Amino acid sequence: MFIGHFAVGYGAKRYAPRAPLWALMAAPLLADILWTVFLLMGWEHARIAVGDTRYTPLDLYDFPWSHSLVMLVVWATVLGAGYFFWKRDWAGVVAIWIGVVSHWVLDWITHRADMPLYPGGPKFGLGLWNSIAGTMVVEILMLAAGVVAYARATRARDWIGRYFFWGYVVLLLIFYVGDRFGGPPSSMNEIAWTGVVLTVVMLVWAGWFDAHREARR
Ligand SMILES: [Zn+2]
Repeated sequence: MFIGHFAVGYGAKRYAPRAPLWALMAAPLLADILWTVFLLMGWEHARIAVGDTRYTPLDLYDFPWSHSLVMLVVWATVLGAGYFFWKRDWAGVVAIWIGVVSHWVLDWITHRADMPLYPGGPKFGLGLWNSIAGTMVVEILMLAAGVVAYARATRARDWIGRYFFWGYVVLLLIFYVGDRFGGPPSSMNEIAWTGVVLTVVMLVWAGWFDAHREARR
């Protein structure tokens, strides 16, 4: 899943209005952030295998440290604790904890049975990725719901808060749809590096427009 994770970050703002959007988004994206880093370190592995599911050309055969349920509970607790010491905001801690763990649930729905319960443990997955249309409908509806929730929970203080918020949504959709029409990636290294760079840009951008918006009462 890709934009569905961003949807969780947007939706969380309603429940944790004091938490910055970049932190609320980093939580559901954390598993994939760790994955790109662990791939580059050689701690986790994946290979390009066109047709592994209809949606993705990747065989995700080894990612227990970033993507097992038990490790995500651990990462959620680490990130939640870090956020608590920074902001002392319990609503934000809860939103971040649930956000990190939600990654497993959403990937479990989309992946084939490659999502480990714990490192070395059994793997699960419902395989929504076997349907391209099904995947895209679910993710785009999720993003729409998240964006609407965020737009209702906050209001723009200036033009940056307004236009860079909508620009972000448009860019996410362009990435998402464009990815469908691009050829298969050339190497796992390229995927990992693209992931790292894109994530940094998207989190900084989210933090930027969010700082130009305020909670509605
Ligand atoms: Zn993932």
